[in-house]
Amino acid sequence: MTRTTPPRPADITGLFPELRDYSATATRLHPRPGKPTSADSSVGGPLLWPADGPWPVCTDGDTHYVFQLRTPATVRRSREIIAAAQARATASGSRYSLSDEERAELPRYDFSEPRELLSQPVPLVPVAQLYRRDIPDFAGPDGADLLQVLWCPLDHPDAGYNPRVRVYWRHSADVGKRLDAAPEPAVVHGTYLPVPCVLHPEQVREYQYGGLLPAELDDRITAWEEETGHSYQYDLSLAPGWKVGGFANWSLTDPYPMNCADCGTTMTLLFTADSGEWDGGSESWRPAEEPADAPHNPADVTIGRGYSLYVFRCPASYEHPPATAMQ
Ligand SMILES: [Zn+2]
Ligand SMILES: [Zn+2]
Repeated sequence: MTRTTPPRPADITGLFPELRDYSATATRLHPRPGKPTSADSSVGGPLLWPADGPWPVCTDGDTHYVFQLRTPATVRRSREIIAAAQARATASGSRYSLSDEERAELPRYDFSEPRELLSQPVPLVPVAQLYRRDIPDFAGPDGADLLQVLWCPLDHPDAGYNPRVRVYWRHSADVGKRLDAAPEPAVVHGTYLPVPCVLHPEQVREYQYGGLLPAELDDRITAWEEETGHSYQYDLSLAPGWKVGGFANWSLTDPYPMNCADCGTTMTLLFTADSGEWDGGSESWRPAEEPADAPHNPADVTIGRGYSLYVFRCPASYEHPPATAMQ
């Protein structure tokens, strides 16, 4: 099933034609739980990876901030238990509740596996695999047809208490013999282990974050919002949810420069992992095909207190390191 963003509630470039100069396309990924293979674009799915290539690991060891360490098996079992209880509630029209057995199987809120498990290198987990053929806003080196995003599924104090992200571009035809099963970390922070999802990519038009527009234009848009009750930020400029390309929403801290650590060039938004597809004030972005009670966080990833993790790339070279910002 395709996913279609409903028309925006106002024609913003009809009202403010100058916005065309501050516009870009983005590809909403619309991840939904499924069974992707390494031949598919996915969120949290298996990666097309060479059998003889090293799997990336994080060696930050003791410097990780430790909070509720869980085994991946526990995270998956907990999701099954909660999904079963939700399905029962939906089927019977009753209130969501867990049986005593289910409750006993879920880890207590304050439970954590021993932090000694972090003294070993932590294999990164697949976050997204994106084939150029599926993603209208794919960006990558000439000839590369595959972008892979991985992260260390723990909090890194020197990365804003976020997962540490790595990106890889590949020529899929060059992979050769494929890795059958990726190594898994002994423990993760549960909200950084995405549910395996298939994608329903859709290209949308975005407009730059208000604080990064010329002040005079931003002021006129703000005055128009006050007059009409429309929201440029929530409904008219930036798509929420997992996406490729487009612009970042800087509403948490206000904009700060993202410059390449290698060459100082202003970086470009490559990829966004998000805590929800249309939560909070962004309900207008819920796809037309989906009912109001559809789960709004299908990948079950939470960044901070429900924020987005933006991954930026250097436009001067794909070999320069990415950078991340939580907003
Ligand atoms: Zn790490
Ligand atoms: Zn650079």
